[in-house]
Amino acid sequence: MKHISKKKVKIVATLGPASGSADMIKALAKEGVNVFRINMSHCPKPEVLERVKRIRAVERELGVPLSIMGDLMGPKIRIGDVEPGTELAVGGEICIGAKAVRGTAKEISLNFPTILKSLKAGNEIYIGDGQIKLIVKKTIPGGVLATVAVGGPLLSRKGFSAHGMTLKHMALTKKDREDTATLIEAGADAIAISFVQGPKDVEAIRNLLPKKNPPFLLAKIETQSGVDHADKILDVADGLMVARGDLGLSVPMADVPHIQKRLIALCLKRAKPVVTATQMLDSMASRPIPTRAEVTDVANAILDGTDGVMLSDETATGKFPVEVIRTMVSIIERATSEIGKRYFPEDTSIAGAIGASVVRVAEQIGAKLIVVMTEKGVTARRIARHRHMQPIIALSPHLETLRRLNFSWGVYGYRVPVMKSADDLLLQTKKIAKANDIMSLKEGDLFVVSASIPFGGASGTTNLALAQKV
Ligand code: PEP
Repeated sequence: MKHISKKKVKIVATLGPASGSADMIKALAKEGVNVFRINMSHCPKPEVLERVKRIRAVERELGVPLSIMGDLMGPKIRIGDVEPGTELAVGGEICIGAKAVRGTAKEISLNFPTILKSLKAGNEIYIGDGQIKLIVKKTIPGGVLATVAVGGPLLSRKGFSAHGMTLKHMALTKKDREDTATLIEAGADAIAISFVQGPKDVEAIRNLLPKKNPPFLLAKIETQSGVDHADKILDVADGLMVARGDLGLSVPMADVPHIQKRLIALCLKRAKPVVTATQMLDSMASRPIPTRAEVTDVANAILDGTDGVMLSDETATGKFPVEVIRTMVSIIERATSEIGKRYFPEDTSIAGAIGASVVRVAEQIGAKLIVVMTEKGVTARRIARHRHMQPIIALSPHLETLRRLNFSWGVYGYRVPVMKSADDLLLQTKKIAKANDIMSLKEGDLFVVSASIPFGGASGTTNLALAQKV
């Protein structure tokens, strides 16, 4: 097993018509993609299974751990069917109600009308990707009356978002249940859950997972309720996604950068990965170079401390998927050199304290490498959150663990046999360190190792740090 790219921030790339072929998957992996995202809203089961097969074949061919994340559609709120040719004029009034009607400029319906109960006068409503904007004028029996602030053509089944809306106690949809089963069958490494409002939404998916090696669960934070409950959501999720697309329609858009910073800081504190998503290099879907604002946005997410950055249309349907990844890698490499270190004095657990000492010792003695023996990746993530510059190599006999670590900043996973003693561990480390050009180590360079004694203990029981020469 080897690693192609030295970059520390992980790249999640969405597959689609522009990137789903075996050749493109290989090209993108070679440029530095760590995680391939399959958007379950647009990918039927046979195509999911086929894509997974292709990714696994590329993983074997390149010998680098590649991860697969299925992104569930969630309870996507949409308007109903609308008469063809319907146009909304600015200043007009429109009722949004529970009654199933064929939509007109005067009245439309929703697939989840109960959310209308949470709306109040003054709330902003967006239809589609924000093409149409309405303002709630007043509540009416079974719905709301809204004024058109930004008009235009109204098309059937477009997405519906509103500031202040809550989707409390929504049952898991049949599609999400079936798609979760498909992703388990396909052996996906992670499942992203859309429109998470609170911990119950994560638990509903967790209940469907096998107990042995369950996929990682990433909660997509894209509503005010998700933002408000992020801490509790992280009690049951393995990580978060800052899903800025829908988030920017369901909270005031000016709040998005600040929510992003808060969610990233929270994930660092909890030593769980966070992916920043949507419109990062949006203009590259149709042009080979990004805007200055996009480059600045990606760099700022990295400076905030994000573990991963995600591409959607840029790689799924865009014209320049390979150039997009190259651009992303160059921004990551430059921004990473400016990242500030983090400290977590509040973590008083043994494993947390050992994680902190490993990075301190590495820094103090000028070690070139940090090595962590890991069962489930917990200790590797505890070390990575300090955002120190030494590469962290995670040694594990479990390929699943190495793939889950593809979501974590600065960690390179290597598969090793089950180790029985510290001598074994040092031998394996030296072998990998010497054989691998990613670390460019020389005889005599120092490295720091963390492990748990006795060997083969449960996950999260790290209690040992030791320094050695290669
Ligand atoms: C988002 O809304 O930012 C997001 C990542 O979700 P999706 O692409 O599924 O809308």
